[in-house]
Amino acid sequence: MVSFIGAGPGDPELLTIKGKRIIDSADVIIYAGSLVNPQVLSGAKEGAVIYNSAVMNLDEVLEVMKAAEEKGLKVARVHTGDPAIYGAHREQMDRLDELGIAYEVIPGVSSFLATAAVLKKEYTLPGVSQTVILTRMEGRTPMPPKEKLLDLAQHNATMIIFLSVGMLEEMSEILRQAYRPKTPVAVVYKATWEDQKIVYGDLTNIAARVKEAGIRKTALTVVGDFLGDEYELSKLYDKTFTTEFRKGVTE
Ligand code: SAH
Repeated sequence: MVSFIGAGPGDPELLTIKGKRIIDSADVIIYAGSLVNPQVLSGAKEGAVIYNSAVMNLDEVLEVMKAAEEKGLKVARVHTGDPAIYGAHREQMDRLDELGIAYEVIPGVSSFLATAAVLKKEYTLPGVSQTVILTRMEGRTPMPPKEKLLDLAQHNATMIIFLSVGMLEEMSEILRQAYRPKTPVAVVYKATWEDQKIVYGDLTNIAARVKEAGIRKTALTVVGDFLGDEYELSKLYDKTFTTEFRKGVTE
């Protein structure tokens, strides 16, 4: 059995109880060494064999899984954040299907949610944005033609950009064509890690500020007026609003 586990954003206490239980009892652990906090593996049992997938290709990862399965060993495949977001676990699951090896997926706290937490912000403010776009800049992985950053930006929704902090100058230039240039932006480096850094700015100055802070990778860029202070109160807690669980007060 192979368990794909979302290791969370960094703070080892942000690993799920289920994920931790499986890691701590696994015979073989394959973890994404470039981003997973090694502390997440601190409870691994003695004798567990640990591989760093940062230095392995897909065939090598599958080879380790296959060999473990043949010996009846339990494999924990540990991905950063939640594997469903830029985790590249689909291609592994498909290969396991072909090999007839059973697997499960244990979700994790994605870095984009940890980022909202450390910023102490809500992405979906009434009257500001009710939509969150998770995307990236085109790098070696091309963007599908209908998902160009400028097209996505036309919505002025809350936008969270992964894997792209090294291209912040170009990113802000594109976003300024669709958002107000003074739209607030935050860049969060290593959210929830001990060396976490937060840089605030707007679409005109964020690139320079982030460069000055020396941030080149492992950061998320979040854009939108959800970072500002103007919004409408929610209907959910509006005292005149009746919900399934609560009667509204008539004034
Ligand atoms: N599956 C992961 C994302 C993997 S892609 C998740 O759910 O978070 C790797 C990118 O995620 C990094 O380039 C960076 O943009 C972002 N990232 C991962 N961990 C992060 C963290 N702790 N703080 C900020 N960004 C992070």
